Amino acid sequence: MTSNAVIDHTLRDPWEVAIEQFDTAADKLHLDPNMRAILRECQRELIVHFPVRMEDGAVKVFTGYRIQHNTSRGPGKGGIRYHPSVTLGEVKALAMWMTWKCAVVGIPYGGAKGGVVCDPKHMNLQQLETLTRRYTTEIALLIGPDRDIPAPDVNTNSQTMAWMMDTYSMHAGHTVPAVVTGKPLSIGGSEGRNEATARGAVYTIIEAAKHLGLDLEGARVVVQGFGNAGMHSAKLMAELGATVIAVSDTAGAIFNSKGIDPNKVDAYKRENGTVVGFAGAEQITNAQLVELDCDILIPAAIENQIGEHNAPKIKAKIIAEAANGPTSPEADRILFDRGVFLIPDILCNAGGVTVSYFEWVQDLQNLFWREATINARLKEVMVKSFTDVLQMATKHKVNMRTAAYMVAVARVAEATLTRGIYP
Ligand code: NAD
Repeated sequence: MTSNAVIDHTLRDPWEVAIEQFDTAADKLHLDPNMRAILRECQRELIVHFPVRMEDGAVKVFTGYRIQHNTSRGPGKGGIRYHPSVTLGEVKALAMWMTWKCAVVGIPYGGAKGGVVCDPKHMNLQQLETLTRRYTTEIALLIGPDRDIPAPDVNTNSQTMAWMMDTYSMHAGHTVPAVVTGKPLSIGGSEGRNEATARGAVYTIIEAAKHLGLDLEGARVVVQGFGNAGMHSAKLMAELGATVIAVSDTAGAIFNSKGIDPNKVDAYKRENGTVVGFAGAEQITNAQLVELDCDILIPAAIENQIGEHNAPKIKAKIIAEAANGPTSPEADRILFDRGVFLIPDILCNAGGVTVSYFEWVQDLQNLFWREATINARLKEVMVKSFTDVLQMATKHKVNMRTAAYMVAVARVAEATLTRGIYP
């Protein structure tokens, strides 16, 4: 039921982090102070409080948000998160990161994000539907197929998107599939969306391997997290001839230097609920997994897995951030100095939002593409974006993360400048 992991609030305020990352790229770009002032703020911040009648008949008032950071390059795009720890600062940071992610892969969207402070684990399906429909109604003044297009995030899924689409359509008086993405196939969802994040990540790994002269045939791959992003990444890497030597989930990690078949692990996990206990592999910890001797490390679980404590011990040649925010800024510096090639999250996992964009395009045209077409177009986007970021990194002698931010910020700044200031 999840798509994006939750930010750990014991760590730094996400909005502070987002601003610091932006400032680093803005400094390198010598960004004009006026432009810097514009991009440091979110364009629109909507806070809603709305009542939902609960199972026992009592009325509970929920708080929700929809934030648009910048819409100079196109309508807002970003997920809806249901979690007890959702805050304004978190949603603002996530909206800003969406602006950069869409810009780095060159899809014509701005950045947005939404969230409701709630605990879906303690709500039944009926209450979730009621909450979703009322929240959709409250934010209807911001969203729309030409204005701002939500998608699933933590604790929301294709069913949530179906309810949002239906609610918006009931108000409009006709069906509006393009108002959200991540829908079920039966109501305008896209082929290939499930594997899109992993497939996009793997396209960037192929490019990184070419750049480094690393042969993927037999390359040893370690994957942290065996969910949507991690499991599909492991399977796709194995299809390329790489050897997946370790995978993990919250219960622990499994390792076999001769290789593990991700398809068999998937079948095992479906039956047993975890990868741990899989025959023919030894159990290790998630901390050991990150430091394994390997060629490619794919963090595909949660934030803050690579920090000052373990960055000096990492042996991988390539780190591909399928997860959002797995590496701290301090670890980034250590890894860069040690010559580890890191593919940053806003580039590496942008395959998900790219296929969301394809879904929206298909909905607007009422013309649906075959999976092969989706994958070919995704490849084109990912390869071009990787090349753009690598060129920026080489030209300015910066790491791939700073380069990705520089590419993104420059594109958003150019669009904002070209449109000018109204009135
Ligand atoms: P998911 O819930 O499907 O899978 C997460 C996996 O990580 C699970 O196997 C879980 O057991 C494991 N995990 C959780 N905490 C862990 C820990 N401490 N150590 C080891 N494993 C742990 O989620 P997902 O959709 O695959 O998302 C994973 C990451 O990818 C997140 O950071 C998310 O933001 C990012 N991402 C996902 C998408 C997408 O389309 N699914 C798009 C962009 C980014």
